[in-house]
Formats: sequence, structure tokens, C-alpha cells
Amino acid sequence: MIGQYEVQERPTTNGLGAAVAPASYRGASAPRRLPWAPPPLIRASFGLHVAAVAGVAALPEAWPWAGAAMLANHALLGSLGMWPQCPWLGPNLVRLPASAASARQVALTFDDGPDPGVTPAVLDLLDQYAVRASFFFIAQRAAAHPSLVREVVRRGHDVQNHSDRHTPGFACLPPRILAREIGAAQARLADITGVAPRFFRPPMGLRSPLLDPVLARFGLRHVSWTRRGYDTISRDADTVLRRLTGPLAAGDILLLHDAGSARGNGETPVVLAVLPRMLAALAARRLTLVSLTSADWGGDRMSRQLW
Ligand SMILES: [Zn+2]
Repeated sequence: MIGQYEVQERPTTNGLGAAVAPASYRGASAPRRLPWAPPPLIRASFGLHVAAVAGVAALPEAWPWAGAAMLANHALLGSLGMWPQCPWLGPNLVRLPASAASARQVALTFDDGPDPGVTPAVLDLLDQYAVRASFFFIAQRAAAHPSLVREVVRRGHDVQNHSDRHTPGFACLPPRILAREIGAAQARLADITGVAPRFFRPPMGLRSPLLDPVLARFGLRHVSWTRRGYDTISRDADTVLRRLTGPLAAGDILLLHDAGSARGNGETPVVLAVLPRMLAALAARRLTLVSLTSADWGGDRMSRQLW
């Protein structure tokens, strides 16, 4: 498990079973298992299933009604899982806390990297404005570029968990496979950086109703976003920039991609066209871009569980 690092000269990864970190980080970075209780909607869904089974046992001819109720419940949970900002399937960080908003902080997050053709250029742009960001890396991709991942951390950014393989059907996986995907990613990323991620963002932001207890087990908090640029789809930098900065407010969490970015004019990844203009615009508005771990959490309840 993540908290049981072994001391080895050269970090290795062997999936779920043994996350191995450099000796200097041994154990210190392992996040605690977070307390978990099912949210009211999940409790109600469980109660509905129990009532449906009991109802059919007592009155077998009522099975169509019981079946319809369970189908409707599954349809509701499934549709809520497709809403990344949904607050009813468990804790979901959509904005930074009020203390960060008061400090005029905005969180900058990147998904789907690392990409050796784009991520280094992103790092250079962030350096120019002396800002920090969180990189939600796909762990198997990170394992293919470990020196680049370590460079991200060396420059003051943090690396977070975006699953092991970014499989398209992630939200439909059973709990055992969800745990394997998330645990393997924790192990790989902690192995490379020496610091286990504290935040998780599911592939495409789609959330399984069964995800929350798995995240709690690994000490992870679910993060979505306030605004996204749709930079994997839009090739037009003006449009992406407008989506991100038009209605922007202090405390927002922004989402861009350092891998899979759409290609704009001259085949430049649109993220590299947007980022310099976005960084300049936020600096002009006296907003400070931060990573999730460098944000001002103040006395926020979640921060006491995270650090
Ligand atoms: Zn993704």
C-alpha cells in the first residue's frame, strides 16, 4: 500500500502492491485514509433497493414497480455521474475555499500529460510568470517520462492522480477495478516524485457513484473545475481564452490540457497559444495562479483532512 514504502536506491514500480519511494520521502508523503460516509443520495438509493427487494418478497406481483423504481434510480445516478460539478455523489472540489478567493488566488490545472512535446513548453511559460499549477497526470504516461515528471515537481508544481490508464469506461468500472486503477496510479506517481497525490480527477470528469469510498481509502479528494477551455476540441485560441477568462473570478479552478491539446494555426497546440495570453490577463487583474497544494486553504474543513 501507499503508506508502506520500502527503502531502495533506485525507485521501482510494481503496481498496486508495493509503491516504492526514495528513502528521504519514506512514509512522510503517504496520505491518510479519509473518513467516509455515504452521502444522502447514496443512502437513499441503498434504502430504495432494500425496500424494492423486501416489497417483491412480500408482494411478488409488484415486481414491475420495484424494477422500474430501481431502473429510475440507476438512471438518475448515471446521469449525475456525467455532471462533473455534481455535489450529490460525494465531496467535489469545484472552487477553491473562500480564504483562497480572498487572497485573489485561481487554481490552474492541466490534465492528461505528461507530453514531452508540450509539457516542457508549458513549464517555461509558467516560469515566466512565476506561477504554480497542478498536473493531473495519467500514471502510465508519467511512468514513460519519469524525468519530465520530476522536473515538473522540481519547478514547484504538484502532480496529481488522473488514473492509471485513462480508460474511456472508467466511470462504469466495478469498485475492485476502480481501486486497482487509482491505487496503481498512486503507486506509480509516488514512486516517481516521492510524494503521493492528494487529489483525483476522473477521466473526462465522469464520476461513478461507487468512486467516493475508493478515493477515501487512498486519502484522495475529488476535484473537478470551475471553468474549462475545451482546448482538446477547440482549435481557436480566442474562443478557449474567452471560456477561461471571460467570467473568471477569484477562487476559480481552471482546466487545460498539456497532452491531447487541439492544434491551431501552424499546428501549434492551442494550449501554448492560450497560455501566454491567459497568464498576462490574470496578472493584469492581480489574480495569482496557484497549484492545489499551494492554495490558501485557511481553516477550511477539507484542509485539515488533507494536510
Ligand atoms: Zn483526462
